[in-house]
Amino acid sequence: MFRFKKIWHRLAFTYGIVFIMAIAIIDTSLIMFYSHHQFRKTQDLYIEVAGIVSQMADKNLKFTNFMNMSSSEENSISGRILLLDSDGMVIVDSSNQFAGSQMTNPQTRKVHATKKTSVGYYKVDKESFAMLAYPILKNSNLSGIVLISYSVGEINEEVLNFAFGVVIISLIVSVIVFIISFYLGLKIKNPINQLTQASTEILNGNTGITVDINSPDEIGTLAKTFNMMSQEIYRTEVGRKRFVSSISHELKTPLASIKALIEPFIGEENIDPLILNEHLKDIDYEIDRLTVMVKSLITTARLEEIKPVLEKFSLCEEIHRIVRILTPLAQDKEISIFVNCPTFKVNTDKSLLREVLTNLIDNGIKYGTQNGHIKINVENTSDKIYIHIIDNGIGIDAKDIPYIFDNFYRADTARSSGFGSGIGLYTVKRITEITGWNIDVKSEAGEGTEFILSL
Ligand code: ADP
Repeated sequence: MFRFKKIWHRLAFTYGIVFIMAIAIIDTSLIMFYSHHQFRKTQDLYIEVAGIVSQMADKNLKFTNFMNMSSSEENSISGRILLLDSDGMVIVDSSNQFAGSQMTNPQTRKVHATKKTSVGYYKVDKESFAMLAYPILKNSNLSGIVLISYSVGEINEEVLNFAFGVVIISLIVSVIVFIISFYLGLKIKNPINQLTQASTEILNGNTGITVDINSPDEIGTLAKTFNMMSQEIYRTEVGRKRFVSSISHELKTPLASIKALIEPFIGEENIDPLILNEHLKDIDYEIDRLTVMVKSLITTARLEEIKPVLEKFSLCEEIHRIVRILTPLAQDKEISIFVNCPTFKVNTDKSLLREVLTNLIDNGIKYGTQNGHIKINVENTSDKIYIHIIDNGIGIDAKDIPYIFDNFYRADTARSSGFGSGIGLYTVKRITEITGWNIDVKSEAGEGTEFILSL
C-alpha cells in the first residue's frame, strides 16, 4: 500500500494508525456509553412518572382529579402527559389539546402488541423529543396507556458537549504521542544513520572506523558487532598490506641475489670451479628461502579448508615423537628440551595437534638462545588439558605481542635473528579457531616466552 523509504517513517506511520484506531474506538465507546446513560436516566425518570400516573388512573377509574395531578407532574418534569383508554381515545391531555380525540402512533401500537413500555425518538422542526408509551394493565389486560412526550434537546446538547471534550482531550494526547513517537523515531534513526555512514566509510577503504552507540537494545548489540567487524576488517587489511609488502620484499631479495650470483658466469668460458661452487651454494640457499615462502603461501590457502578428524591417542607419546623429530635442530643450538607429561589419552585431531606443537616448539628453538632450554609441561585438569611450552630465548616485545598471531607478522628481533615466514603462529591460531582450542602467550623481551595451548 504505502512504500516508505525510511524505517522510522514506517514505524511512525504504523504507530500512528494503531494509535488513531485505538483512540477512535475508545472515544466512540465513551461517547456511546455516556449518551446511552443520559438517555436511559431520563427515560427511567419518565417511566417512573408513567408508573405513578397509571396507578392513580387505576385507582380512580373515572379519572377525577387526574388533571390536577398530571399538571403538577408535568410541571416538575417538563413533559406532556396524555392518558389514553384501551381504544386509544385521549381521556386526559395535560395540554388540553387532544382530549376526546383518537390517538395512535408507533409507540401506542407497540404497547397494544406487546403490553410493554415502548420509547421512540423523533425530530419535529429541529426539536428532538422522545415519546414514551406505558401500558396500564388490569388483570393482564390493557386498560389504558400513559403517553408522555418530553424534549431530549438538552440531553443531545450534553452528549455533544461531552463528545467535544473527549475529542479535544484525544487531540491533545495525540499531539503528545506524536511528539514522543517523533523523538523515539529519531532515537532509531540516528544510530542507523551513524551505522550507514560508517559502513560507507569502510566501503571507501577507511577501515577500522567505529561508531559510538551504547544503547542496551538490539541496535546497541548491532553497533558492538559492527565495531568488532570493522576492527577485524582493519586487522585483515593491515595484515594483507603487510603481507603484500613483506612477500614482495622477501621474494625480491632472493631473486635479485640469484640473478647477481648467475650474471658473472653468463658468456664466461673459463669459470673457476671453486667460485662456481660458492655461487651455486648461495643460489641453493636463496632457493630454500623461496621454497619456504611458497610453502607458507600454500599453507595459508590450505588452512581455509581444514576439517578436524577426532581420534584417541596418547598425548605424551605424541609430544615425545615431535620432540624427537626436532631434537637435531635443538642440538645445533645446544638447546635442551624437557618434557613433563602424565600418561593419558586424548580424543582430538592428531595431525592438527602435531602441527600446532611443532610450530610452537620449533619457535622455541628458533628464538631460543645458545645453550638454552625448552620446557614442555602438560596439566590434565577436570575440564581442560593445558600444554605449556616455555623457553628462555629472546622473548617478544610487548608492542609485538598483539600481532604475533597475524598472518606474515614478524617482530624486528625475529627478522634480525634468521629467516622465518611469519606464518607459524597464524597457522596455530587458525587451527585453534577451527578446533575450539585456545592459545595464550606470556613473554618478556630478553627473558623468554611461554605459550599455553588448552584443549
Ligand atoms: P616466524 O616464521 O617468523 O617464526 P611465527 O608466526 O611462527 O613466524 O612467529 C611470528 C613472530 O612471533 C616471530 O617472527 C617472532 O617475532 C615471534 N615469536 C614467535 N615465537 C616466539 C618465541 N618462542 N620467542 C620469541 N619470539 C617468538
